[in-house]
Amino acid sequence: MAALPVSKNNMFTMKIASIILLVSLLAMPLPAQVLKPTPALPPDNRLKADILLIVAHPDDETGASAYLAKLLDQHKRIEVVYLTHGEAGHNNMGPERGPSLGAVRETEVRHALAMLGIDNVWFLDGRDTPSQNVLQSLANWRNGQALEEVVRMVRLTRPEVIITWLPGFFIGENHGDHQASGVLSTEAFDIAGDPASFPAQLAAATKINETLLEGLQPWQPKKIYYFSDAENQDQFKDTGPTYTTTEISPTRNLPYWRLAMDSFSFHMTQYRDYIEGLSKKKPEEQKSDWGDPVGLIFGKSLVGGSRTGDVFEGVTPAAIPFTRAIPSGEEPAHASVELAGPWGFYDVFRHEHGLTHLPKAAVPEIVINHGQTLQIPLLVRNSSTTPQTITLSVTAPQTWAVQDFTSSFSLAAGESSPVLVQVTTPAADTSTAEVKCRAENGHQMMGEVELHVKLRAGGLPQ
Ligand SMILES: [Zn+2]
Repeated sequence: MAALPVSKNNMFTMKIASIILLVSLLAMPLPAQVLKPTPALPPDNRLKADILLIVAHPDDETGASAYLAKLLDQHKRIEVVYLTHGEAGHNNMGPERGPSLGAVRETEVRHALAMLGIDNVWFLDGRDTPSQNVLQSLANWRNGQALEEVVRMVRLTRPEVIITWLPGFFIGENHGDHQASGVLSTEAFDIAGDPASFPAQLAAATKINETLLEGLQPWQPKKIYYFSDAENQDQFKDTGPTYTTTEISPTRNLPYWRLAMDSFSFHMTQYRDYIEGLSKKKPEEQKSDWGDPVGLIFGKSLVGGSRTGDVFEGVTPAAIPFTRAIPSGEEPAHASVELAGPWGFYDVFRHEHGLTHLPKAAVPEIVINHGQTLQIPLLVRNSSTTPQTITLSVTAPQTWAVQDFTSSFSLAAGESSPVLVQVTTPAADTSTAEVKCRAENGHQMMGEVELHVKLRAGGLPQ
């Protein structure tokens, strides 16, 4: 039988008809692709932590590792989260840099922690950001995304206690990444138990296409403590518990400081010369380098206990309900001139998270490389009820060059204006000085801020 002739018109009609059929098939409700109900399982107990250490870089654990070794002997479960891979540093072992160096550092710290007895270790996606500016680190980590990741780790590991870097601005190494890990950990402490925060983490998949719902439970940690690499550790005296490191571990037959030192010796890309020198030192010299107690700074407790009492004082196995953070006291008072940037941020942060008791520098301070330009972010404010013209003046040592800046502000009642003052510091000068920024109305002084500035060679950029 001969095939029926098919005209072009007929072809067109058939094509249209098949498209209509396809579209209507797609529009038809598909049978629900429901997941087979599984018996409700409790959260994975292999991940349950007593302590979650949340820090920025491989080697940051060193500030607490002797104490962690002690806790491991007490059968506490310890887990660690690193916000970055520490990829921005130098490499004393080979040419590998950037992401490759980050991969090496991840391996080094996994060995270091495994030596102590810590196996559950996570690395988040933050970029190693060498600066002293916590806001710069938060920005590079995509602030909200990093917070979501930290909250996920808290819900996954369900720690009783979080230990992290102190969020604050102090002369010392003062790494912005350290501060940012403390900021995010504090925020996570306050919201991981809140069922309204990051709800997609808490929703359980019921259909086959809901592949990104996570099925976690809200989790409220009981306590948060901090540690700091500020140069002046005396200012943290009696702000939290202190743990000696000279006792002998009954399971390892070595003092805890020695376990910390041995664990540190895996960080060869960062400290090769020091580590090789360390192995040649006499035990008493090693002890003098490593035998200091570990001091923690008390942040918050939802289960009572005293500020300098043991970390686990008041902690029982029972889960506790979500407790909304209560801001401490009154809003920070506004002045005619204030430090903005990281300094201003911490005033708001400490208030909002009920942490105004945390130590802060008596006079705001910073250390910068000599010859570098110091940046002082300010906010000039008219706190009065009438329009004002406010004049700003800056006093710095004679050899420091204050660059031109906007010095006169006509502000309506309640209005404020940001201004950046830049001061070039002399090269090869390692002095310290105060820089003062004063706001005046006519000849009447309205307010003044002071910044204590230390110059030295090297160190992190501002
Ligand atoms: Zn670090």
